[in-house]
Amino acid sequence: MKKAPSPKKALKYFIDFVGDDILVGHSVGFDLSFINHHWALHGGIALANRSWDTAEISRVWLPYTSDHKLTTLIKHFGIKLENAHRADADATATGELLIRLSEHILSHFPLLVNARLLDLSKQARLDDSLYSYIYKLVEYQRRFALSGPKPKPPQTMKPNVLEHHGNGDPRLGIEEVFAEQGLFSQKFPNFEFRAGQLEMAREVEESFRAQRHLAVEAGTGVGKSFAYLVPAIAFAEQQKARVVVSTNTKNLQEQLFYKDLPQLKAMLPLPFKAALVKGRENYVCERRWEEFLVEQTRGISPYEAQSLLNLFVWKMLTISGDVSENSSFDRNRFSTVWRKICSDRYLCAGRKCPHASRCYVMSLRKHVETFTPSTDSARVGQQNTLAASATLATTIRAEAGFSSNHWPSASLSAPSTTGRTSDETSLSLVCEENLGSGTFTDSTQVRPSRMSSPVVSTLAFLATSSCSI
Ligand code: SF4
Repeated sequence: MKKAPSPKKALKYFIDFVGDDILVGHSVGFDLSFINHHWALHGGIALANRSWDTAEISRVWLPYTSDHKLTTLIKHFGIKLENAHRADADATATGELLIRLSEHILSHFPLLVNARLLDLSKQARLDDSLYSYIYKLVEYQRRFALSGPKPKPPQTMKPNVLEHHGNGDPRLGIEEVFAEQGLFSQKFPNFEFRAGQLEMAREVEESFRAQRHLAVEAGTGVGKSFAYLVPAIAFAEQQKARVVVSTNTKNLQEQLFYKDLPQLKAMLPLPFKAALVKGRENYVCERRWEEFLVEQTRGISPYEAQSLLNLFVWKMLTISGDVSENSSFDRNRFSTVWRKICSDRYLCAGRKCPHASRCYVMSLRKHVETFTPSTDSARVGQQNTLAASATLATTIRAEAGFSSNHWPSASLSAPSTTGRTSDETSLSLVCEENLGSGTFTDSTQVRPSRMSSPVVSTLAFLATSSCSI
């Protein structure tokens, strides 16, 4: 440090070095304000250079990455970064990121889309950094519109329906899956036999079979998710019934759907179909979206334009219409806009809606309804979402990390399986983050307790009101 130049000298060197060039940075506003602040202390004038922010750019065109941190994006594009968080390495990686982002945009998004985004960035009245970047892109695309390669559709979002056709004998017993030498021990390289998991799975299976409720208390590491998912799938397959798994949080719901069920799909011979179901306000309404876009062409507020900048590409790519998959969109910050475009039961025309054939909610509902053929069965699913079985509720609560002092005040009722003729096995995942309350005691042991109930054909975890779509 002794030989290091003084801050004034270093800043002067930097300012001469950048001249009038465009400054590129990841969340560049922070660095610029830092530089300008210290430069002002030495009597300097704030930099007037244009800047391009790779974080802001990625939020517009990459709504499906888990977040927009430099490390995440670098990994996404496979950019090498040795010595992360060191100034030189981060700066080089950011430059590389800008190049990859621009290539990604030009190869996947046509001129029409980018021109619309340009319009939005103007309406958003942000500083002109994003506008100037999109302007350059659009200018380039206009120039090469006829001669350049045509953009190919980019990667789309994950589907919210999962189907497994089965690949072996579906009459697989619980012991054969969870036992020391069972299916899991062959399929999981680091499988550790857990007596608690096997015991829990047996209890769940037995509760399904005997049609009674069960509460299980089990600590971390027991392998609870598989211990209820496997018997639930087996039950649904055997009875040709539908099972509702209601979780306490959306995180757990997504973990079950995107991590646990694909693993089961890869190893279980049992066929099943699963859908990820949330309250309808989580889904964008096709009709209201169209209306909002028409509004946009007539002029919307900067706040609305900012929100659309982070919705537009996601809406192009989404399969499910579920906004929680959009990591660019801040639903709290833009709640007013989201309320304008989300599906709303009071404003929904249902099957009479001209957009029904493209509607995310209708499509998901159709998937769930076709899991069982009769409309009665479909209603039963909703009913179970509303009036839950307490079966296994504690397991989910433990996984959701809730304090032990609350117990869902769910009524115990479930439909009969009689009369079902469907040959489809199905699993729906619903989630409601609001809970009732009661009491419960912590334990790291598996502790089942049985509650008799006349019929339990549908399994619902912590289901409360307003989960159904
Ligand atoms: S059916 Fe309802 S939710 Fe779907 S697009 Fe039409 S109005 Fe929106």
